[in-house]
Amino acid sequence: MDKGIKVEIGSYIFTIEKVDNLKGTNAETDLMAQKISISDKVSVDIENECILHEVLHAIWYIAIGVCQHAKFTEKQEELVIGHITPFLLDFIRRNPDIIYKIMNRQYLG
Ligand SMILES: [Zn+2]
Repeated sequence: MDKGIKVEIGSYIFTIEKVDNLKGTNAETDLMAQKISISDKVSVDIENECILHEVLHAIWYIAIGVCQHAKFTEKQEELVIGHITPFLLDFIRRNPDIIYKIMNRQYLG
């Protein structure tokens, strides 16, 4: 049985799993392996933010593409994603009704 949770990001299937051997970071994304690793040493709140953070890295890479991706430094990418992630997480938590609507492909009533 495979470890982790499979998620679809664009046309790619990534595996998100907890690992015990991350060094110097709480999470990382291996785009070529389509794998997101989350440290098993973080709290549940940090784990959830890390998942969104790493999903945004994957979206960034897929959406911007390999060529355009290279036009941004890793520091620029980290700055944007690092600032957006907590707000995205907060938005999801504060707005379960709109998340339910989006998930169920419902029109505004
Ligand atoms: Zn990052």
